[in-house]
Amino acid sequence: NEGLGSWPARRARKTPHRTALIHQADAFTYAELHERTTRLAHALRAAGVRRGDRVAYLGRNHPAFLETLFAAGLLGAVFVPLNTRLTAPEIAYQLTDSGSRALLHSPELAAVAAVAAESGGARTVVEVGGAAYEELLAGAATAPIDEPVSPDDLCIIMYTSGTTGRPKGAMLTHGNIVWNAVNVLVDHDLVADETALVSAPLFHTGALNMLTLPVLLKGGACVLVESFDPGGTLDLIERHGVTFMFGVPTMFDQVARHPRWATADLSSLRLLNCGGAPVPTPLIATYQERGLTFLQGYGMTEASPGALFLDAEHAVAKAGSAGVPHFFTDVRVVRPDLAQAEVGETGEVLVRGPHVMSGYWGLPAESEAAFVDGWFRTGDAARVDADGYVTIVDRFKDMIISGGENVYPAEVEDALLAHPDVAECAVIGVPDARWGETARAIVVARAGSTPDPASILASLDGRLARYKIPKSLVLAEALPRTATGKLLKHELRSRYGTGQ
Ligand code: ATP
Ligand code: MG
Repeated sequence: NEGLGSWPARRARKTPHRTALIHQADAFTYAELHERTTRLAHALRAAGVRRGDRVAYLGRNHPAFLETLFAAGLLGAVFVPLNTRLTAPEIAYQLTDSGSRALLHSPELAAVAAVAAESGGARTVVEVGGAAYEELLAGAATAPIDEPVSPDDLCIIMYTSGTTGRPKGAMLTHGNIVWNAVNVLVDHDLVADETALVSAPLFHTGALNMLTLPVLLKGGACVLVESFDPGGTLDLIERHGVTFMFGVPTMFDQVARHPRWATADLSSLRLLNCGGAPVPTPLIATYQERGLTFLQGYGMTEASPGALFLDAEHAVAKAGSAGVPHFFTDVRVVRPDLAQAEVGETGEVLVRGPHVMSGYWGLPAESEAAFVDGWFRTGDAARVDADGYVTIVDRFKDMIISGGENVYPAEVEDALLAHPDVAECAVIGVPDARWGETARAIVVARAGSTPDPASILASLDGRLARYKIPKSLVLAEALPRTATGKLLKHELRSRYGTGQ
């Protein structure tokens, strides 16, 4: 077995007594992870799971998530992680779409899982994480499983975040996952005794592929946290001597706003990877005041996911940039005719590398459209500087064209966030008779402030070109976001995109 499923056995051969997973009061060594994974694979096989079958998992961060991933890999089956925040019909859609034969779920999601499994056609439903799961493992065999699995075999169908529409199932092979992990090991200088704090959801690519799997490949420990909480994060960093964290900007922002932020012992932290969305400049400064520097990353589910990274050394000199390509990755920024964009010119990001998916599950037309000459088309706008550092501008889909000028909402949002009354904001385009489209800001005010829309907009004068300044500002209680905290622009557009 040359796939992911063999990792626990290989680790158990090398470092059997080291801790692999920590979850609440439980801790499993690599030898235990190997045994539990083998037992689960036997149990799944007994339930009829065969090579190529899809095995879905619905649950928050828990050892059973990784046990299921590795057990599926041992059998040559395909792991399908599901987003716990989806509704039962949305989960049913992903179960049907992936044709999942089995569904493993955690106890608190039993009701959703039952409804979804019934309408989504999953034939085997297993509740993990409780006494019944431990009994299932105890009753299963421990003989080695010897199913041939090659790097080109499908390993995971991972659904994209659904920020721009219905999530699509990216088909990731064992080779894709391994190459991404190798990129992380090379570029982030992981050592053997890393302790990772896994508080972003494992069902999204970042926490799984940029943090957990590289650390397990190297033999470190992963502390699994079911739901992110800023105070709990500080406690766990101190208790376990966490060295490595991954999160989206909103998570790091919440940690820095916690009352214990100033006094907590953060001396063990060595690697803070902030990715998945642009990192606001004030956030970088807040962490720097505590002596902490972010590694920043840009990637997408389809690339397993790392494409660009900015190392700590260049965090200040190249602030705002997402960095340079990972070691085994090639990135180009091109014009619509695919010619290379000039230095400073905005174009589309293309990505190529051994970690880039083969296509979208069951979507041949979208799969074909996603590639050009072997390069993956990200749909993201970016520009490259003279040193080759890439700055992500925004998604082309979110770009606003106002009076013939391109307005990238991310730039306007960054400027709005500098206003003391603005806690969160989003910028969308609204139809305008004169300009075609104009920008509209939707703002969540900071608690205790009495925001005045006109003066917030006036604060942008001189900071942004006139055509970029929103013509209207709407105050909102909260903004719709994905499970990883990304703004759901299409929902914002349908809610705030018309009228005054
Ligand atoms: P969907 O494809 O379903 O609409 P999604 O693109 O949000 O959802 P992901 O694969 O989770 O799904 O996210 C990848 C996207 O996130 C990138 O294409 C890019 O738009 C954005 N992104 C990732 N990292 C960064 C970053 N560092 N800066 C700016 N944007 C980023
Ligand atoms: Mg996408």
